[in-house]
Amino acid sequence: MIRFEDLLDKVQGYSPDADLELLRKAYVFSALEHRGQIRHSGEPYLVHPLEVADILADMKLDAVCIAAGLLHDVVEDTLTAPQKIRDLFGEDVAHIVEGVTKIGAIPFSSTEERQAENFRKMLLAMVDDIRVILVKLADRLHNMRTLQHIPDDKRARVSQETLDIYAPIANRLGMSRIKNELEELSFRHLEPAGYQSLKGRVDAKRRGMLGMIEELSSEIRSKLHDAQVPVLSIDGRVKRLYSIWLKLKAQKIDLEQVYDFVALRVVTPSVKDCYAALGIIHQTWSPVPGRIKDFIAMPRPNGYQSLHTSVISDRGFPFEVQIRTEEMHGLAEEGIAAHWKYKEGRVGAQRDEQYFQWLRQLLEWQQEVRDPQEFLSNLKIDLYPEEVYTFTPRGTVKVLPKGSTAIDFAYAIHTDVGHQCVGARVNGRMVPLRTRLKNGDIVEIIRNASHKPSRDWLNFAVTSRARNKIKHLIQVEEKDRAVELGKRVFDKEARRFGLNGAKLLEGDIARVLAEFATPKPEDLLAQIGYGKVSPRVILDKIVPHNQLKEQAPDHPVVAAVKRVLRPGSEPDRIKVRGADDVMVFRAKCCNPIRGERIVGYITRGKGVSVHSAKCTNVVNLSYDPQRKIDVEWDKGSDIQPYTVRLAIVVEDRKGMLAQLSQRIADINTNITNVEARTGDQRGRIDVTVEIKDVKHLEQVIKSLRGVEGVLNVERTAPIPERR
Ligand code: MN
Repeated sequence: MIRFEDLLDKVQGYSPDADLELLRKAYVFSALEHRGQIRHSGEPYLVHPLEVADILADMKLDAVCIAAGLLHDVVEDTLTAPQKIRDLFGEDVAHIVEGVTKIGAIPFSSTEERQAENFRKMLLAMVDDIRVILVKLADRLHNMRTLQHIPDDKRARVSQETLDIYAPIANRLGMSRIKNELEELSFRHLEPAGYQSLKGRVDAKRRGMLGMIEELSSEIRSKLHDAQVPVLSIDGRVKRLYSIWLKLKAQKIDLEQVYDFVALRVVTPSVKDCYAALGIIHQTWSPVPGRIKDFIAMPRPNGYQSLHTSVISDRGFPFEVQIRTEEMHGLAEEGIAAHWKYKEGRVGAQRDEQYFQWLRQLLEWQQEVRDPQEFLSNLKIDLYPEEVYTFTPRGTVKVLPKGSTAIDFAYAIHTDVGHQCVGARVNGRMVPLRTRLKNGDIVEIIRNASHKPSRDWLNFAVTSRARNKIKHLIQVEEKDRAVELGKRVFDKEARRFGLNGAKLLEGDIARVLAEFATPKPEDLLAQIGYGKVSPRVILDKIVPHNQLKEQAPDHPVVAAVKRVLRPGSEPDRIKVRGADDVMVFRAKCCNPIRGERIVGYITRGKGVSVHSAKCTNVVNLSYDPQRKIDVEWDKGSDIQPYTVRLAIVVEDRKGMLAQLSQRIADINTNITNVEARTGDQRGRIDVTVEIKDVKHLEQVIKSLRGVEGVLNVERTAPIPERR
């Protein structure tokens, strides 16, 4: 186990004026915060941050980064507030620790390659200080090195995640040393049996080859010496177990057939020497056609540069040779970490190399931009300008265009999820559907099977997928409503002439349909419902002119009687806020009247039922809150009275009923029904009255309460309807 003093020595060794006081403070603080915590290995927890700091010191990183390494788990694993880190250790350290904590909180479960790729991109897009990634990689490396102590199932999961996410990121940043170690460790824990047997065979083979590697190395050395090509070092190595394993699996071959089992690495002072060395090697041994690769002229995307060739030895044994300069070698091993070091001016800035174009830009911005927020937006604009990376609660990445909202997310999952979306939780908190998503957001969509999209969604849905689906469904819904409305309007018009609208449409109307270019009667009704054509025009086309005879309208008294006999048959003057023409009806349980505060509930197939806000069914939340919808009384228009039933408790005395009837008549109110019962000393009278609105009702109740002998007046459920 590393001692803290050794770590200080190491840092001082490569950076004599490093802020050792910062490191001491971080160490003491971490020790205090983690005291009493034990790792799976049984060691004190502090060992972990110390080892992570040591890995960072091996990369020769700065004191801020190493302090962050010492503190990287205190926010997540102890009760330390981020602000405390900021106060004690400054903005940079706090920022890195927070970044590492944030990355650690993202769930990742999918092993699908595309998901992994998205996840990696997102991780890089989220990070505004590359040191966050470096600390995270060091953290993961130490966790992988001590993985044998944790339970089996978790071990496999962590290994898979390392292979899918962290090793490729290390590779992307050109850090092959770390990438290789992560891969070897993952392989060992994911395929313990395969790993052990391959290791046994490779070890045996390697032992038999050590002599030959030695021989080949000295032969190259002397040939290059003869040709006066300077060489800094030559070393030989056996290919890593994990890459052999991949090769065996991919090419379905045996270990004996692995071409580049042995590789020799030649490091020279300059690029010119690299090409010269390649020439000499090709003069000495026959190159294998197609195996020469010039990564100096054409670097790999991660900046890797080297010359590769495979040659056949005098004994007919193939081996690979890699030739590169010392600088290239440093970058190949340490990648961005080495580059970062150069930026600090320790090794000497390089002028015209093409390494890590975007990462360097990133580092430059970091120096120029003071405002971290501004930096973050720059970073996002330049790295992945168009996209935002979000997650399902199960860790599936959804890549959406920037500006996307929870609605877009819902439709990205599935059309039905979009249609039925009634709410969203982002990072565990309920948010409005119009909330724009940010990188790393974990989004959970709340659904209700009976819910339908609203036109309002089009104001904030960004993806064309979501917009098209919403528009389509709204059109379908609107058409349904138009058909329904058209049917009612057409039937009403037909009845004026003593005809049955539905019957008329069942007849032979092919000619009329053709004239209006509507394939089905339903479409014709929709045209009426949309208001594109009047019902009279259609009626005229279907019925010969001389057969249309208008019926005399009902005598007012007959109309009134009909109204009483068919209560509720008049359309209710209520509308759903933001949508015309939705079928609404007043709920029977509370029979709301004009002026009362009301709420709507979407029913299954019967339109919207409207309740009084005071209705017990509403108050008790026996209704699904997600089916709630805003409704309001339609303004203006002629007012039809509502029937309201009142239960009046009275002292049992003579003339009570007459007195009450008179009082009701005095305020111009119709009574449609009266039932009176008497019991011991008390009577109960139920009257059903016609009421204009809630004010009217209050007036009636008040005046009844004013009658002497009246003990109580209450509104009750209406009489069962006689339909
Ligand atoms: Mn950790």
